[in-house]
Amino acid sequence: MSNDNSRIKKVRTHISQNESLIFERSRSGAVGYKLPKIDVPTTEVNELVNSKYLRTDDLANMPELAEPDVVRHFTRLSTWNYGTDTGMFPLGSCTMKYNPKINELVARLEGFATAHPLLPEESAQGCLEVIYLAEQLLAEITGMAAVTLQPAAGAHGEMTGIMMIRALLACRGDARKKVLIPDSAHGTNPATAAICGYTVEGIRSNERGLTDLAELEKRMDDSVAALMLTNPNTVGLFEENIEKICKLMHERGGLVYMDGANMNALCAVARPGDMGVDVMHMNLHKTMSTPHGGGGPGAGPVAVTKELAPYLPSPMVIKQDGKFVLDYNRPQSIGRIRAFYGNFGVVLRAVCYMLTLGSEGLRENTETAVLNANYIAHHLRDIYEIPYEGKIMHEVIFSDKRQKKYGITNGDIAKRLIDYGFHPPTMSFPLIVPGSLMVEPTESEGREEMDLFIDAMKSIDKEAQENPEMLKHAPHTTRVGRFDEVAAARNPVLRWQATKSEEK
Ligand SMILES: *Cc1c(COP(=O)(O)O)cnc(C)c1O
Repeated sequence: MSNDNSRIKKVRTHISQNESLIFERSRSGAVGYKLPKIDVPTTEVNELVNSKYLRTDDLANMPELAEPDVVRHFTRLSTWNYGTDTGMFPLGSCTMKYNPKINELVARLEGFATAHPLLPEESAQGCLEVIYLAEQLLAEITGMAAVTLQPAAGAHGEMTGIMMIRALLACRGDARKKVLIPDSAHGTNPATAAICGYTVEGIRSNERGLTDLAELEKRMDDSVAALMLTNPNTVGLFEENIEKICKLMHERGGLVYMDGANMNALCAVARPGDMGVDVMHMNLHKTMSTPHGGGGPGAGPVAVTKELAPYLPSPMVIKQDGKFVLDYNRPQSIGRIRAFYGNFGVVLRAVCYMLTLGSEGLRENTETAVLNANYIAHHLRDIYEIPYEGKIMHEVIFSDKRQKKYGITNGDIAKRLIDYGFHPPTMSFPLIVPGSLMVEPTESEGREEMDLFIDAMKSIDKEAQENPEMLKHAPHTTRVGRFDEVAAARNPVLRWQATKSEEK
């Protein structure tokens, strides 16, 4: 296989590509600890402890290594990670931006880091103030009346929001059955509506990739509880008719849920509350630069209008006689949806981020995020197809249509990007763009890094024409090559187990 990597300007080389499993590194008799000699007779232990709690196997499969071997093994593995601290992470719709280290510093302050969630209110005033402040900042940013921080992630926020809509409609005596969702919405939206007991109906996008107003007009009737709108939508475009959409929904007794996970395009520039949106979530682990990925903790705060505020999850932090207290006296609340205070550490980092930037800084970030996406679109537009040309916001969606001529798919392009030292973009999403590559550079990338990305993408297009076979087997510079994706999905082997011959 020809493997011409001479064009690659940015590569991450690993210290070692030959790291064996820790079990395979085991040397009989090696120890990484020293314990004092046992000074109780073992026979006595056996009498004192119920035998069912005593280990009977001899730990023969545990690896035996010295401490430095263990440390070096895991440190080497850690260098194989790709993260926002290693390079550009253009994963569209995920907003993988750089996480400023000052956020971490604040989160590690002893008073916060060691606070126990069961502390009495009077001992947790600082933490409660952070929650109170975060809610106020987010209400201001979204233009909404009130905010809950309980949801642990975006999808959890969606569920919270739709539950509140259901509660409000029930209270109006106007329970409805359906939720309308445009085909450019995030995939979690229909799942949310279904889990909340609604029938989901899709709304087609028009040829420009926006919600078709005429179609919505036809479909909106008194059986529809809400419209769930991702804005900017998943083709990276702002719903130009958002005000008309909200007006239409309200006139016919429905509500508008806005999926605001893409606030990186709006933050400190435009406020969904001013557009007529009733309820929305945003992802602190995206827009507000708290670490995410790998299913780690996130926070999906939900912001609502005054009308929906009584339904917010309980308890809420309120200020009473100069003190912060938890208010459980909320008879219309949908109840608690997360233990304790939600993911407090994530909220704390987000507050630090918002306060260090201020509204000017947040606005500049938003403008830069949009500029960066447009910069990449501008430089790659002649080479990769952009299926929906509109006002590109914080992310640009390409397709593999032109490269398909050479038998190259978005998957091949994404895998080859790994050789060039970049994390692949989001692929095959949104569903309305076949062979999509969704690129979101975010504001944290400088021009140099984006130029390297553009260069890599151009170079991959050349390779598609000159050496498509090589592309089909990319990546070539990683420890493991391309997986058999079907086998990996159907027959995953997730755990190492000693075979008989390896057992001692
Ligand atoms: C990320 C995202 C979600 C889901 O958020 P999670 O925190 O992963 O649950 C929902 N909608 C949009 C538009 C997103 O980008």
